Order: sequence, then structure tokens, then C-alpha cells
Amino acid sequence: MKYDLLIVGAGPAGLTAAIHARARDKSALVISNDPLASPLGKAPAMANYPGLPGVTGRELLEGLVRQAQDLGVEFRQGRALSVMPMGKSVMVSVENDAVEGRAVILAPGVSRAAPLKGEAELLGRGVSYCATCDGMFYRGKRVVCAGDAPNFDEEAEFLRSIGCQVEVKRLAGLSILGEDGVTGVRDAKGEETPCDGVFLLRSSIAPARLVPGLETEGGYIKVDGRMATSLPGVYAAGDCTGQPLQLAKAAGQGQIAAHSAIEDMGREG
Ligand SMILES: Cc1cc2nc3c(=O)[nH]c(=O)nc-3n(C[C@H](O)[C@H](O)[C@H](O)COP(=O)(O)OP(=O)(O)OC[C@H]3O[C@@H](n4cnc5c(N)ncnc54)[C@H](O)[C@@H]3O)c2cc1C
Repeated sequence: MKYDLLIVGAGPAGLTAAIHARARDKSALVISNDPLASPLGKAPAMANYPGLPGVTGRELLEGLVRQAQDLGVEFRQGRALSVMPMGKSVMVSVENDAVEGRAVILAPGVSRAAPLKGEAELLGRGVSYCATCDGMFYRGKRVVCAGDAPNFDEEAEFLRSIGCQVEVKRLAGLSILGEDGVTGVRDAKGEETPCDGVFLLRSSIAPARLVPGLETEGGYIKVDGRMATSLPGVYAAGDCTGQPLQLAKAAGQGQIAAHSAIEDMGREG
């Protein structure tokens, strides 16, 4: 099925975009990690969200998810690993699957992970973001897993189940070693571990790595006043677009992004 809108991230920005898409009778699929497991889901009473003083992060997210579901928004739980705009379609890979839409709204929140030394250079040459997608290439080999993804344990277990020798490392201070391909990692203490592959299983992926060619500034996605990015068919909303990192701004940008995407679809016919 080809959705009108794909939305990456089930925070206030993505869920508001989805609600407004359904209000305009467009199909919408939200691709996200568990919405209630985000940092906002653990936030205590918030004083400044308009109309809901004292609401907790969990209450707010539960309300948004329920409202979206009641309106017919569909959900696909998992990590979006790449976004590929292709003319009048956009493909998003989710774990080892792919979904198609007419446009995409990026709302993954702020990416807290700085890229590791060697990560960009060795991506696809031993560095992978998805064990269930690329694990088979490392059958019987030594791999290192690092990250904070909600499905980290399942991904590492999958690698063990196909015969990989898995070593788990902390992301902080990790460097990836190798020239034409991965040969090992060095941890924060300077200890080197030889390996053939490195699985970086983070809960979020920096926007420029998620969408190749996307213009960013200081790690944030560049948008215009309509929430359009530098790539046709790709819109962004919320913390991923920069300061202020606040709920009301996230919801407002989500609404604008949905309207702009739908308006542009109408022009294309
Ligand atoms: C403890 C705490 C307290 C806060 N208090 C306040 C407050 O009082 N007032 C206020 O205005 N703001 C507050 N904030 C900030 C507010 O939570 C954010 O501004 C807001 O949540 C941003 O919404 P968003 O939709 O852009 O992103 P997020 O809420 O971060 O949602 C993004 C979602 O996308 C998911 N995701 C990311 N990458 C991927 C991927 N590749 N694939 C699949 N899913 C992905 C994430 O797991 C997450 O579920 C607080 C934040 C925290 C952490």
C-alpha cells in the first residue's frame, strides 16, 4: 500500500502531523520507536503546555496516540533506518522492511548521538545500523554492538543466533578502526577489540544520515516557513528543526508540515 503521508517519529510533532493529515482525509502511517518510551514519556508535570497545565509527558503522549488511532492513523513500530525520496514517491526502510508514501514528514526529535570516529567513512563497509538487515553478512564472524535502541537486546541476540561472536560496548568514546573495511574498535579507555563488523543500534539516527543529501545546520534539519526541507516531498517538524526544543512549537510545526505536504500533493495531482 502507498500511503499519502509517512511520518517518522511519534512525538508531539509527528502525532500532530498525523492527526491533521487524517482530518484532511489523507492516509498516514507513523513509523516510530515505542512512543511512550521516549524521554518525553518520562517527563513529570509540565507547566507550560497550553490548555493542559500539569500534564505529564506520558498522559500527553497517550492522548495523542489515542486521538490519532481513533482518526485512523496507522502505526508501524520500529526504527526508520533510511529515507529515500524518489520523484513522486518516498521509501522509508523500517528495520528490514520498506514502506512507501507520497511524501514524508521527519519528526524524530533531537538526535543526541554524536557520530563516532570512523562511522561515516566505514558505513556500509563493516558499519551497520540494523542487525536483522545486515547480520547474515557476518555469520561466524566477530562483531561489536553498541547503542541504546529499544530492541538492542533482540538485535544482539539475533546476531548470536546466526553464529556471530558478539561483544557489547558502550557508545560513548568508541572509535571504529579500519581503512577499506572495519578491523576493530577502540573504546573510551583505549582498549582495542578486533572485529569484522560494528552494529550501531541507536534509538535515533542523525538526520543527514537518515536522509542522504538532506541539508542540515548544526545537526538540525533546515526548513523553510512551510516546514519544507531541501528535498522535494520531504518535510520536517519539531525538535529536529532546532530551537526552541519545546512541545508547543513541535505541535505547531507538525500541523504546518502536514498542511504543506498535502497542499503540494494537490498541486502535483
Ligand atoms: C524530561 C523532559 C521534560 C520536558 N519538559 C518540557 C516542558 O515542560 N515543556 C516543553 O515545552 N517541553 C518540554 N520538553 C521538551 C519536549 O519534550 C520536546 O520539545 C518535544 O517532545 C519534541 O517533540 P518531537 O515530536 O519533535 O520529538 P520527540 O518527542 O523527541 O519524539 C520523537 C520520537 O521519534 C522517535 N524516533 C527518533 N528517531 C527515530 C527513528 N529513526 N525511527 C523511529 N523512531 C524514531 C523517538 O524514539 C521518539 O519517540 C521536555 C523534554 C524532556 C525529555
